[in-house]
Amino acid sequence: MIQKIQRIFIVQRDLLAGVRNTALEVRDIIETISLCMEPLTAVVCQECISVCCINKHSSYDRSDLIFMTALGSDIPEDNTGIDDSAPCRFLGRNGCILERSTRPYRCTWFFCTPLLDYAMEKSGPSGYRKLIGMLQRITEKRTSMIYDFETVLLKNPHPGGWDIKPNNLLFY
Ligand code: SF4
Ligand code: SF4
Repeated sequence: MIQKIQRIFIVQRDLLAGVRNTALEVRDIIETISLCMEPLTAVVCQECISVCCINKHSSYDRSDLIFMTALGSDIPEDNTGIDDSAPCRFLGRNGCILERSTRPYRCTWFFCTPLLDYAMEKSGPSGYRKLIGMLQRITEKRTSMIYDFETVLLKNPHPGGWDIKPNNLLFY
């Protein structure tokens, strides 16, 4: 799947320019929100007795692959040799070793209740609203980026076939 998506970005370079630009915007917002998140996770996650970073969450789905390819980022291969319930392969001594924008997206939008509570306590209502607003912006832009990619794929079938089907579910 990774190589197929990379090939589409090469062949349809011009048509996917907008997708690449949106991916850059999404990356910038994610790295901005990361600056708000790090002081929170540094406190809450250190005390966690049920760490959510298990290996099941370390795989990149289709949308992650489109996002990462648009950015030209290296994409880690799925490592099937590690048990799903084992600690995530990217979990280091001080938390996740990946830049936030290169983590599977599920890792960015997941907030456990203690983390949300602490964010509210530390940021206050207006800071908390700002945080939630940034998360919504990330999701909206990312969704439109994926939609634009799938539209290009749907409307520009490759003569030899892309060997990857557009995600038609997005269009219903
Ligand atoms: S995000 Fe929540 S569940 Fe996950 S490690 Fe941090 S405190 Fe634990
Ligand atoms: S945040 Fe990092 S360590 Fe945690 S599950 Fe995601 S990729 Fe793994």
